[in-house]
Amino acid sequence: MLEEMGLTPVWKLRLRALAEEQALVVEPEAVSESLVTSHNSPQPATGDRRAAIMHMEWPGLKQAVASCVACPLHANRNKAVFGVGDENADWLFVGEGPGADEDAQGEPFVGQAGKLLDSMLAAIRLQRGQNVYIANVVKCRPPGNRNPGPEEAAACEPYLHRQIDLIRPKLIVALGKVAAANLLASDASVASMRGKVHDYRGTPLIVTYHPAYLLRTLQDKAKAWADLCFAVRTMEGLHGGKAAVAEKA
Ligand code: URA
Ligand code: SF4
Repeated sequence: MLEEMGLTPVWKLRLRALAEEQALVVEPEAVSESLVTSHNSPQPATGDRRAAIMHMEWPGLKQAVASCVACPLHANRNKAVFGVGDENADWLFVGEGPGADEDAQGEPFVGQAGKLLDSMLAAIRLQRGQNVYIANVVKCRPPGNRNPGPEEAAACEPYLHRQIDLIRPKLIVALGKVAAANLLASDASVASMRGKVHDYRGTPLIVTYHPAYLLRTLQDKAKAWADLCFAVRTMEGLHGGKAAVAEKA
């Protein structure tokens, strides 16, 4: 199918180039992990805090995230990464949390994984910002790119919840295990969750591999492509959904 669309060589070459580049990248930040503990949240997501967030409109929500100190991840952040895109998008892609590039620029998926995500979007005729919104489970970078801890994800959850309420996407695509686990409150593997339509508070949700994982595991990119086709079909089947592209059967 990719071949039919003339996308395979581009995708493959890009994947290979990115994977090779990534292999050369050293993570100097890994050592700083020990500076942050996740069991010491200064501001837990209390009912009051959640209720306040659930009433925020876009400007207040953005401001709240930019100045948030509700979990220890605030301590090392350069910029909080709120999310980006069309605030009325049909499509919402959710990743895990900012990496170094995202922390520096304040925008999600701008590093290596982001380039692959853009290629994946392009493969289904979608473009960042046009009918697409991109966000993360946590808005501040976990040191050394470790997974966000459960307390950090819980502290940040009301923001994503409110973003989803405001955007009202027709379909959510969870990128990788951390996004899927947090959105679906499930510990299941990506392999077992993909290929099904799940439910996030009434919004259809599908699960696929994280682009950073695909950069390391090239053999699974065909599965990710199948997931994107499944997402397009799912969107087409939703009442009133604006399909991204007609999938060639
Ligand atoms: N990985 C993610 O999960 N999110 C980003 O924004 C960047 C990399
Ligand atoms: Fe606040 Fe989320 Fe950043 Fe933690 S990760 S400080 S909860 S914005």
